[in-house]
Amino acid sequence: TTGDGILTVEDCAVSYGKVTALRGIDLTVGEGEFVAVIGPNGAGKSTLCNTVSGFRDYTGSVQYHGTEVGGQSPRDLVQRGLVHCTESRDLFGYMSVEDNLTLGAYRANTNTKERLRFVYDLFPALEDRTSQLARTMSGGEQQMLAIGRALMGDPDLLVLDEPTLGLAPVILDDISEGIEQIREEGVTILLAEQNVTFALRHADRIVLLENGEVVRRGSPEELREDDYIRESYLGG
Ligand code: ATP
Repeated sequence: TTGDGILTVEDCAVSYGKVTALRGIDLTVGEGEFVAVIGPNGAGKSTLCNTVSGFRDYTGSVQYHGTEVGGQSPRDLVQRGLVHCTESRDLFGYMSVEDNLTLGAYRANTNTKERLRFVYDLFPALEDRTSQLARTMSGGEQQMLAIGRALMGDPDLLVLDEPTLGLAPVILDDISEGIEQIREEGVTILLAEQNVTFALRHADRIVLLENGEVVRRGSPEELREDDYIRESYLGG
């Protein structure tokens, strides 16, 4: 483990009562890096995302920009550029697209107009729908909106939990393109993803979680060659 990551997780464990959801987690995400955490349902991916962004008690160490996350509220972390796009998206259903986006502009010095421009260029479908209520949008559009709102927060570290959930392949292409542009902007990304193909396509490094533990890690190339990954996650 190194000390120069934007995010450094060392020997981290999280429990829900008697259930241990994560144990012995070591993970570093460097500046500008894209790291994907893959694994089946219940492996602990969302728990890891929630822990990183300050929503869970943990043992061990979780540092963002060198400061322990434990002593900071999620609100403080957002101010410091750690933005979490949750699995459930958490949109405001009875508010418009643009109002949802504007609410994401948390950081003190954000130029809201410029950020809106950036998000609309990234996901043009949103610009066609600025006054539509979030709840009336398709699943794919809602996911774009959730990612867009997170980007309004001008993240240094974007935590993306399961952005492909329930989306048709053709919509995935739009999300994929958007994510590639986000990384070109230099945003550091921690992605939790059950869609292994999607994760392997985008990430620089992959971590496989099973039952709350890291069981494999490596580059997409390395993991594609791994017999266990191929048989269990890529259909042989
Ligand atoms: P999925 O993709 O299905 O969401 P996941 O990999 O994100 O799965 P988690 O949601 O982190 O996995 O769940 C890890 C374990 O922790 C599971 O056994 C789950 O039942 C448990 N768990 C998660 N959240 C809670 C909670 N709030 N209270 C109790 N147990 C929880």
